[in-house]
Amino acid sequence: MLPTVAVLLRAPCGPVSVETISIPEPGAGEVLIRVEACGLCHADLLVAGMQKLPLAPLVLGHEGIGRIEALGPGVDGWRAGDRVGVTFLAATCGQCEYCRNGLERFCPWQSNMGFNRHGLLAERAVAPVNFMARVPENLPAAEAAPLCCAGWSAWSAVCETGLQPGQRVALFGMGGLGHLAVQYARERGLRVVAVDVSEAKLHLARKLGAELTLNAEDAGRALLKRYGGVDAAVVLTDSPDAIRESFRALKRGGTLVLVGLSTARPELPLFETILKGITVRGHYLGTREQLEEVFVLAARGVGRPQVEAFPLKDAPRMMERLKRGELVGRAVAVMES
Ligand code: ZN
Ligand code: ZN
Repeated sequence: MLPTVAVLLRAPCGPVSVETISIPEPGAGEVLIRVEACGLCHADLLVAGMQKLPLAPLVLGHEGIGRIEALGPGVDGWRAGDRVGVTFLAATCGQCEYCRNGLERFCPWQSNMGFNRHGLLAERAVAPVNFMARVPENLPAAEAAPLCCAGWSAWSAVCETGLQPGQRVALFGMGGLGHLAVQYARERGLRVVAVDVSEAKLHLARKLGAELTLNAEDAGRALLKRYGGVDAAVVLTDSPDAIRESFRALKRGGTLVLVGLSTARPELPLFETILKGITVRGHYLGTREQLEEVFVLAARGVGRPQVEAFPLKDAPRMMERLKRGELVGRAVAVMES
């Protein structure tokens, strides 16, 4: 067993604390990682608020960057000292129809960091090597960490719209994912409308290349009036209002990509979906290739997150701020080396 300081959820819905715990040595196909940085994701809040947990106590966190410290048995292709990125997707079965078709993220037998395996909001963590990404040396850890979830999801969601350069996309929610999605959409030559309720977040979106920013209220009607609607909308927040407005904002034949996990049950109008030929897609993480792409893009300066770095001990307080929507960009725990 190895000691580590970690952000711990002791019981379902229980408080989050920072404690020294013991983690097991890496098993077959796993490595021990000295964590450099780990981002806070909205999904960590969802896990912390779940009535039932698959593992408790649980170390939270699924946006981790670090270096391999030790290899478990049977690990090929990785060495001690390698710099890695670890995501929510820890391991999958490799055999099912989803795994065989590049849709590993839908594998029914997947395991997940910070959910049913201990996560990366810790000084040390053990992770399977299956879905680890190589992280360029020139990326600061605090900027690389958000790419493991926010960046990966945002890049793949922008790809999922299927839009061509010059087409218009409305991005709803300018938080951790949204401010990266603006950069990715610009990279793909799309015209970007950014929508949020926070003026500070819209200001950042304009700086990152959004051609129009809108306050969320009545954004759908405003976009219909101004452009006759947008070609696609991507919802990167859990706000039911954003989902409603994003649907309204679409042109005929438009595509709605839903990314922000919400436990609410907003209505999507069936009548308009059919008569306007709207495509509605749920979207979650991305492909292995897309995970590699976000690191390549970041190394050339595309999709660099705005980061609020904090020491691990402040994680409970930062989670409260995330819950209240007070963070601009991504909050990232940076470990003392
Ligand atoms: Zn996440
Ligand atoms: Zn599978």
